[in-house]
Amino acid sequence: MNPAYRTPHPLPPAPPAPSGAYVRAWADLKRRRAHRWLAFFAWAPCALLVILTIQAAFGEATAHQVFFWVALPFLLVAFGFMARASFFECPRCDEKFESTWYFRSPFTQACVHCGLRIGTPRGS
Ligand SMILES: [Zn+2]
Repeated sequence: MNPAYRTPHPLPPAPPAPSGAYVRAWADLKRRRAHRWLAFFAWAPCALLVILTIQAAFGEATAHQVFFWVALPFLLVAFGFMARASFFECPRCDEKFESTWYFRSPFTQACVHCGLRIGTPRGS
């Protein structure tokens, strides 16, 4: 009853998952950085969209009155994501990965404290 074309073919073996003590940390850093840039670039258009919707529904005067209270939550959420990315701790030295007390580099590819590069698979 089971035609040959319906015979399931065995799947090829899955590629080995990346291993190493730092793999999870780098994935977390990548996610935090993506959220930071998304929040950085998206908060203003999202707030503007809500303001324009309010303006269309209730008029320009109402939109001007509520502008601050509509924009503020978007801005606070964006700051939260930006702070979350900057508070990422280096998996080797447990210091903030991209900032010191006097220096901040959101684009750095290596820990500003110990020099551990992003993508290093395990402790060395
Ligand atoms: Zn470090």
